[in-house]
Amino acid sequence: MTYSQVDYLIIGQGLAGSLLAMELLRKGKTVRILDNGHRNAASGLAAGIINPITGRRFAKSWRIEELLPFAKAYYQTLEKELAVQCFHERSVLRFLKSNKDINDWEGRSSWEGFDQYMHDFSGMDDLAQKFHLSQGIGRIAPVAQVDLPVLIKALKQYFETQNILIKAELDHQLNEEKLLQSLAPYNASVIIFCEGYRAGFNPLFKFIPFEPAKGEVLFVRIPNLNLEDIVKDKLMIAPLGDDTYWVGSNYKWNAKHENPTSEFKTAFIEKLESTLKLPYEILDHQAAIRPSILDRRPVLGFHPQYSHIAIFNGLGTKGASLGPFFSNKLADHLINGSVLNAEVDISRFTA
Ligand SMILES: Cc1cc2nc3c(=O)[nH]c(=O)nc-3n(C[C@H](O)[C@H](O)[C@H](O)COP(=O)(O)OP(=O)(O)OC[C@H]3O[C@@H](n4cnc5c(N)ncnc54)[C@H](O)[C@@H]3O)c2cc1C
Repeated sequence: MTYSQVDYLIIGQGLAGSLLAMELLRKGKTVRILDNGHRNAASGLAAGIINPITGRRFAKSWRIEELLPFAKAYYQTLEKELAVQCFHERSVLRFLKSNKDINDWEGRSSWEGFDQYMHDFSGMDDLAQKFHLSQGIGRIAPVAQVDLPVLIKALKQYFETQNILIKAELDHQLNEEKLLQSLAPYNASVIIFCEGYRAGFNPLFKFIPFEPAKGEVLFVRIPNLNLEDIVKDKLMIAPLGDDTYWVGSNYKWNAKHENPTSEFKTAFIEKLESTLKLPYEILDHQAAIRPSILDRRPVLGFHPQYSHIAIFNGLGTKGASLGPFFSNKLADHLINGSVLNAEVDISRFTA
């Protein structure tokens, strides 16, 4: 079958492909999307948290001052367009385990640029009924939690009503030439690969140093926890509504398979029990692979050899904040030839 001519073909309807498609459609372009039914989607499992302060040393997230407000406005617009609720403003309650943690927190939270995100927390007594607390709690805000599974589903339905989504899998066993030939019937001027971690198997992008990070998640019912914020202790507990919580996750680099493991389940049940005082029930256990790159930056732009091939990938552990901003930048680059920031430009791997 040969399809009608379109401006852009997008391979992959995860967060990257979906947001890029919306950007191009809003700019009046014609788009077709090909996806294998989310078989390998990280977006379907992500907690969708945009956290400005992360890691043991309370580091500030890259470009968070511009990414967080951009993402907020972006998702709120999408909520209206799709009539769906997916953007939630929350705090992260960071459990501080030692005097060193407390000193580090106090020191860092007085730094200019950090003070706007790191605050004192005054609800210790209430939380002490529910959690085994250690030294103290610091509150990080503003934080966002984007319900990515709900958003991706709504976007899928939208693309289906527009008749632009095709369920099909691009075969990575083919060599470059045959792969490009297999895309010819989709009749697009430009093809953008948004395949998540599977791009690491794509013969066209062998020169990009992908470093995929598998993550596993437990979905847990915890009656009477009534948590509106996100708890960060040895694990992350994020509210999903109806007494259900997202509990995760780990980083397994270059994992051999995509399946959930009993090692993770055992380790995270142990962590949950050492944190939580309330009874709970495990509802589900899933795994997916984050599309990370060695330098931990997104990768976007045109293929060095093929002027009609481009990529949008490397959203890694931070797709919820990077996706809106960089889909916007890439759409502008594709349509108007605007210059990409050198830190995210694909040319950093080819120059
Ligand atoms: C456990 C876990 C927790 C996370 N938590 C957070 C978080 O709190 N905050 C945050 O910002 N990010 C988080 N992330 C990261 C986030 O999920 C990713 O950054 C983002 O979803 C990547 O989107 P993507 O579109 O690039 O890839 P994906 O979501 O993987 O989408 C790629 C799509 O392309 C399809 N596809 C791939 N190859 C082909 C092919 N050859 N043919 C057809 N279709 C194909 C796939 O099936 C999929 O639908 C988390 C990820 C995991 C796994």
